[in-house]
Amino acid sequence: MKYDLKKIAELKRDFKKKSVPKILLRAKGEFGDGLAMTTAFGYSGIVLMSFVKDTIPELPIYFIDTRFHFEETLKLAAKIKKEWKLNIINISTHYSEEELEKILGKEAYRTNSDLCCHYRKVEPLLRILKTKTAWLSSIRKDQSRTRAGIEVIEIDGRGTVKINPLYNWTKDQTWMYIRKYDLPYNPLHDQYYPSIGCKPCTAPIDKGGDERDGRWKGMQKLECGIHLYDDDENKREQK
Ligand code: SF4
Repeated sequence: MKYDLKKIAELKRDFKKKSVPKILLRAKGEFGDGLAMTTAFGYSGIVLMSFVKDTIPELPIYFIDTRFHFEETLKLAAKIKKEWKLNIINISTHYSEEELEKILGKEAYRTNSDLCCHYRKVEPLLRILKTKTAWLSSIRKDQSRTRAGIEVIEIDGRGTVKINPLYNWTKDQTWMYIRKYDLPYNPLHDQYYPSIGCKPCTAPIDKGGDERDGRWKGMQKLECGIHLYDDDENKREQK
């Protein structure tokens, strides 16, 4: 057991009263080297990383390289790593493309996107989380109906503590922060891509659509299994 429920309840009460920088400092004080962050360099992630830069710049920040990211995302990741001098670490599946094709078949993102996400995203993340006690994420309640119930701190169902310092931030508030501090961001956001993942599974949304409408467009799928997952994903993880 990696956590103490009373401690989590106490942290939740405390975090709800605190600003983002103070949440980060308290989290670092509580979890020390057991704390890490993950990001896919979306606009909320940029905001959270800007707070990390100013408070706990040594924090390991994991970027899951699925080998399917947009050029724009990779360029932004390189720019932030260089200019903000953050401890950004790329992680990726152990399997080669040939091995993945044998396991998943050709173009698995079309034929079996859950399994594709499991091998390319979830499994690399789980490898890291096994070495950590708490992870920071920049997800927000208003991003989608699947995220509306998130808390500032929660047990992620895999037994790791998850901290969402921006849980209550709105889209407008997040963008206002980016504009105010002139933070860099993925240029695809200006082309109706509010949420950006892998190239084959990300499309622009219609004006006024939900933030995650462009992810796995035309499928029932709304999440990759990193933040929210179902019984099928749990079974895959137990194998
Ligand atoms: S988002 Fe698409 S390409 Fe990326 S891992 Fe998931 S199914 Fe595969």
